[in-house]
Amino acid sequence: MALQMIRPGDEGYEQLRDTFAHQGSPARIARAATAADVAEAIALAGREGLPIAVRSGGHSAAGLSTNDGGLVIDLSPMNAVELLGDDLVRVGTGAHWGDVAAALAPHGLAVSSGDTVSVGVGGLLLGGGIGWMVRKHGLALDHVVAAEVVTAAGDIVRASAEENPDLFWAIRGGGGNLGIVTSFELRATRESDITFARATYDAADTEAVIKGWRDLMRTADDGLTTTLQLYPAFGEDMPPTVGILAAYAGADPAAVEPLLGLGKLLDSEVTVKPYAEVLEEAALVPGWLPIVRNRFADELTDELVDDLLAWKDRVPMMYVELRAVGGAMARVPAEATAFAHRDAEIMLLTVVLGSPADHVPVREEFEAVWRVLEPHTSGAYVNFFSEPTQADLEAAYPAATRARLAAVKAAYDPANLFRGNVNILPAE
Ligand SMILES: Cc1cc2nc3c(=O)[nH]c(=O)nc-3n(C[C@H](O)[C@H](O)[C@H](O)COP(=O)(O)OP(=O)(O)OC[C@H]3O[C@@H](n4cnc5c(N)ncnc54)[C@H](O)[C@@H]3O)c2cc1C
Repeated sequence: MALQMIRPGDEGYEQLRDTFAHQGSPARIARAATAADVAEAIALAGREGLPIAVRSGGHSAAGLSTNDGGLVIDLSPMNAVELLGDDLVRVGTGAHWGDVAAALAPHGLAVSSGDTVSVGVGGLLLGGGIGWMVRKHGLALDHVVAAEVVTAAGDIVRASAEENPDLFWAIRGGGGNLGIVTSFELRATRESDITFARATYDAADTEAVIKGWRDLMRTADDGLTTTLQLYPAFGEDMPPTVGILAAYAGADPAAVEPLLGLGKLLDSEVTVKPYAEVLEEAALVPGWLPIVRNRFADELTDELVDDLLAWKDRVPMMYVELRAVGGAMARVPAEATAFAHRDAEIMLLTVVLGSPADHVPVREEFEAVWRVLEPHTSGAYVNFFSEPTQADLEAAYPAATRARLAAVKAAYDPANLFRGNVNILPAE
């Protein structure tokens, strides 16, 4: 079948122009159903001089999967999830992680991905994939066995440990810089039930809850993956709170019990459910465009906690999340993939809620908060940026990783056709 091309005014254009958080007005949207379609779309962009935006699930906080006046290559038709063997699964990059979890569940299999149903396979996996079993099974990208990639030249190649191993290394963490990935072969893990806990604490106990959580996680079983959330007040009726979400791989409520006794508990819930039901839907208030920034920290020190608590309220609508990492993620050597930050104890994520107009008066304070936090941190996760800067790129990719990515980029995309991402320039 011919490549489906949608232009402004065509049926479907209004549904496809925008992404999760961003509005776009592309000149064309190519709905790619095969790798050959992707190659054809790349060739068309070259002929017509259109900048390319590649889209899997459309959840880029930076709006990188749509554009104005360019070509969007929409991979959502490539969403098959096929079991190839015992635990080997081929997943189209246009699939959503909720689809993957649902398709694998009847086989007693799962791939640790992220926390959200509608996030796409492509974007999450190319950057890392910090999911509900990251401490037990590592990043989503640690499960990749092979990938099909369409290069800037339009070649359809396979990347694995044996075939194009430089490309295989680079696509595991290097984002969309190297080519358009149309499918991944993943080694799934045998998991079914998850014990999932939600605890909400009084904000008066914030410091005790954070430090208690950190101390518990330092000795926790790798089966336990948790995040801690600091919610700002939402009007007078909803005061600030501290939340903990915990996922224990297995049916064992006792494994999450200690997380319910860290302060004055306002509410809690413990359920045992299939992994596929742990993933949740996410929605954004219309008009909001959150400012998203993150860093890893090798250690959640008392000083980092103290500075965070002393400064965070300067930005009133800022949500803060601390994700405990380590475990299996830390057991992969830093140089094995283009995701280098294996030694982190936590990822610190800040999300300033509201519209662009709401952000204007808090911009300076937001930067001031990060000037205080930054010295406590080391490295960053490429998938949680709304306005990636050169400093963010350098935090995500340490110098040695950057140099190696630039060399692979020079081999596979020397003209930097794929620059709608946290962009690595090809080595000269
Ligand atoms: C609500 C929400 C929850 C999230 N939760 C998590 C989480 O729990 N864990 C986590 O690790 N991350 C999480 N993320 C971050 C997420 O990993 C990134 O936003 C990721 O880029 C989304 O992937 P996507 O395919 O949906 O995005 P897209 O917007 O489609 O793509 C993102 C980027 O990747 C490029 N790209 C996408 N697909 C391809 C491809 N096949 N080939 C080449 N380049 C491609 C795009 O050009 C773009 O630059 C979350 C994001 C949101 C908005």
